[in-house]
Amino acid sequence: MASNSSHIDTLLLHSGIAEFNPKTEAAPVALPSIRTSTVRFANMEAHDRAMQARGRGERAVTYGRAGMDTHAALEQVFCDLEGAHRAFLAPSGLSAITLAFLALLNSGDHVLVADCVYGPVRYLDKIVLGRMGIEVEYCRATPEALESRVRPNTRMLYIESPGSLLFEMLDIPALAEFAQRHGLVLVDDNTWGAGYVYKPLGLGVDVSVVAGTKYIGGHSDLMLGAVMAKDPELARRINETHYAMGYSISADDAWLALRGVRTLPLRMRQHAANALEVCEFLAKRPETVRIFHPAYHGDPGHELWKRDCLGSNGMLAVELALNNQQARRFVDALELFSIGYSWGGFESLTQLVEQSALKLHGYWQDSGADRSVVRLHVGLEDTRDLIADLQQALEAASAG
Ligand SMILES: *Cc1c(COP(=O)(O)O)cnc(C)c1O
Repeated sequence: MASNSSHIDTLLLHSGIAEFNPKTEAAPVALPSIRTSTVRFANMEAHDRAMQARGRGERAVTYGRAGMDTHAALEQVFCDLEGAHRAFLAPSGLSAITLAFLALLNSGDHVLVADCVYGPVRYLDKIVLGRMGIEVEYCRATPEALESRVRPNTRMLYIESPGSLLFEMLDIPALAEFAQRHGLVLVDDNTWGAGYVYKPLGLGVDVSVVAGTKYIGGHSDLMLGAVMAKDPELARRINETHYAMGYSISADDAWLALRGVRTLPLRMRQHAANALEVCEFLAKRPETVRIFHPAYHGDPGHELWKRDCLGSNGMLAVELALNNQQARRFVDALELFSIGYSWGGFESLTQLVEQSALKLHGYWQDSGADRSVVRLHVGLEDTRDLIADLQQALEAASAG
């Protein structure tokens, strides 16, 4: 067993391995998927101990919804990654976001939300939060822009760094200082960092949310979310709502996530290296207007990225001097990059970003000309093939 002082790459390989069977003194390496709907106890004393622990808000196994060893091992992995006190599993990234909002806000509260957040957060606001009397206000996430928006009933600041679509780096330590000064809970969507290349809880964030669907799982075969808190009081509030809402994930998905996370460090390094090679290629193309990727030297967020991040990943966006029709031809001509939402799996993906979505982002500078933004997830394929694919597709876009 790795000790708590081990480096994270070591912890990820030794955390949650199967224990020895006391009779055979043998064990498999990987913890099996422990599927169960309920839990049985050896005697009443064991039952009462578990119930009392649950009552104190500790992680205790009293019923199938909380999951057993497979779930506990995955929660420990999320705590190790994020430097959290507790982690709570949710059936998708979006449901983890919902959990954070519902656990930390009450009717009549006002919440400030970075305008660069994952799009469906706005849908959660429109369909659920508004109806519950929680008022959401979107804003550029800088202390200067936010200062005048704080009201007596503002309770939370919700951010995502780097931002969805254009990957603008936020100054998390400055935002944490701002949140603390105004008594706001700071919640950050850390799906980009996956707890591995960005450690928001260490930079002053109170609650970190991760879509494990992306780099944690890493193989495009499961849906998963997690909410992490470092403060026991915040963890208590999330725990209660998590229990009350009946959140539960399948043991098989927890098992797949554990299996995926073993190779997270290797995958992240390779995605990041591949994405930088793609940036270098795109920078030389006449169609390229601007590259959005904080690990790339030309990005305005590069200095913040160097200061706050430990690495990068395969996500980038590129503004191309192509009109919508040409951009659609470009995306259609790509063969190795499939058209699809999501990212974080082994494979390359692309998505043509809607102008209406860009307009919601204060960071976006609309040049008014015939321009298109394409988002790429650079996968683990050989970059020579990926670059050849991009090259032929750019040529196909301009021809005709
Ligand atoms: C994908 C994503 C989510 C939602 O995760 P799902 O598991 O797809 O629900 C949340 N935040 C970010 C930044 C994402 O990219």
